[in-house]
Amino acid sequence: MKKRIISTLVVLALLFSMLIGCMFSGGDDDANLNIIDDNYRNYYEIFVGSFYDSDGDGMGDLNGVTEKLDYITDLRCNGIWLMPIMPSPTYHKYDVEDYENVDSAYGTAEDFKKLVDACHEKGIRLVIDLVMNHSSSKHPWFTQACEYLAGLKDGEQPDLSVCPYAGYYNFSNEKVSQTYYQVPGTTNWWYEGSFWSEMPDLNMENDAVRKEFENIADYWMDLGVDGFRMDAAMHYTENATVANSDVLNWYYTYCKKRNPEFYMVSEVWASENVIADYYGSETPSMFNFDAGTAKGKLVSATRKGDPNILVNAMLKYQQDFSAKNPDYIDAPFLTNHDMGRIANVLVNDPEKIKVAAGLLMTMNGSPFVYYGEEIGMNSAGTKDENKRIPMVWSKTDNTGMTDGPADMDQGIESPFEGVDVQEQDEDSILNYYKRALRLRNENPEIARGTIEKIDSLCDGSVAAITKTYDKSTIGIVYQLGDSNSFVNIGDTQLADAELVGYLTLKSKEEVRLTQGQLEMPAKSIAIVRLPKQE
Ligand code: CA
Repeated sequence: MKKRIISTLVVLALLFSMLIGCMFSGGDDDANLNIIDDNYRNYYEIFVGSFYDSDGDGMGDLNGVTEKLDYITDLRCNGIWLMPIMPSPTYHKYDVEDYENVDSAYGTAEDFKKLVDACHEKGIRLVIDLVMNHSSSKHPWFTQACEYLAGLKDGEQPDLSVCPYAGYYNFSNEKVSQTYYQVPGTTNWWYEGSFWSEMPDLNMENDAVRKEFENIADYWMDLGVDGFRMDAAMHYTENATVANSDVLNWYYTYCKKRNPEFYMVSEVWASENVIADYYGSETPSMFNFDAGTAKGKLVSATRKGDPNILVNAMLKYQQDFSAKNPDYIDAPFLTNHDMGRIANVLVNDPEKIKVAAGLLMTMNGSPFVYYGEEIGMNSAGTKDENKRIPMVWSKTDNTGMTDGPADMDQGIESPFEGVDVQEQDEDSILNYYKRALRLRNENPEIARGTIEKIDSLCDGSVAAITKTYDKSTIGIVYQLGDSNSFVNIGDTQLADAELVGYLTLKSKEEVRLTQGQLEMPAKSIAIVRLPKQE
């Protein structure tokens, strides 16, 4: 008899702990997930060469990404952005020699197809970098154009019916600016290379070039690509917002005709008002350089412990971006491959790294995580190679470890453990990221909701907003103070809300909601939900 009571108690205790496990992040239970299959995603940005080496040659490759899809899924990401994978003479591959192939260092087109199919099986959408502003100086379009121009007599103008490629780039009889370079083999022809002499700018106003890029879209869409990340979109015609928006609109319209779900996210590295203007292109996403980077609102709010910096910025994004494109999907991030990593920016402070990630994951749109950020990987100085160093899968086991870019500085130490150890530590940065990303998957309002500020709760280290999507409203309450604190939501529009999730620095720390009082540990974020209105 006694035995039976004990075993019943054990079963009840087990059931109870399972229930708690379901209610909040943690555990592998998918009961509370509410993932909508649309273009709001949690993205993971990968530099393939430094990610995972599947065949032991020291070079990260596409098969390596395929092998690590479970890791990405486990992180709760359901979108991937691959930095350039097309054949290129450089390690970074932002200068393309052939737009319809895969660089042999990374694998083959068949490997790519396998990766796409494996992604789709796991509900991951795959976006690739498309470098349309310029090609490599080794691209046959450019080399043929140069050869043709070198054969012209003095004063003779190119005949595009003889050599159409002479119209593919911005050639001129004058050195128009400092970013114009002499065409090899000529004394009176120059070409634009706004980034580098070996990256000649393509002429996107030329219909034949546009036709080429339509074929390129077909090639990648035939392989199953779900979207493009448009590199250097404000440079197609140097800083010409209207002309460049037209390029984006033309390309997106073309891709969308084939696949209504096609996604596009563009790099407009500019101030918030310029980014807003580019939403006039009616393409879905622009990276949010106002929220991200070392000088952005996310880092600023983190450093000052003031969530109101972010809340006010989020309201401004909502107003300015939606004014230009009501269907905009913000694309916030902390850092990317072009800047020092977030761990470096926040001087390897694990609490601040977590807070920055937590704030990011409460933003609307599709957040982008740069590979290694989720384990607090470091970078060094301003050299690009040092921002793209090998993913630290383990500090003791070299399986899959890449050699990294040839010219990176050696000995850049990751201040935290590798993936293997962090996975086992509930309080690691990695597990904080997982909890934060899971909250987004449980609460679709976080990505999609219309934001309103709860003024009475916005002061100092505390801030609160509501987000409403599909008649459902959640509240997000930020408490970035250094100690435990009470936030009274009982006198606000959140009075009837229940606690549905939270982020705390340590896994054992809890947020509690008792009679309208949220008890919140230092630097924590709470998600509450109002009863759904019919
Ligand atoms: Ca390899």
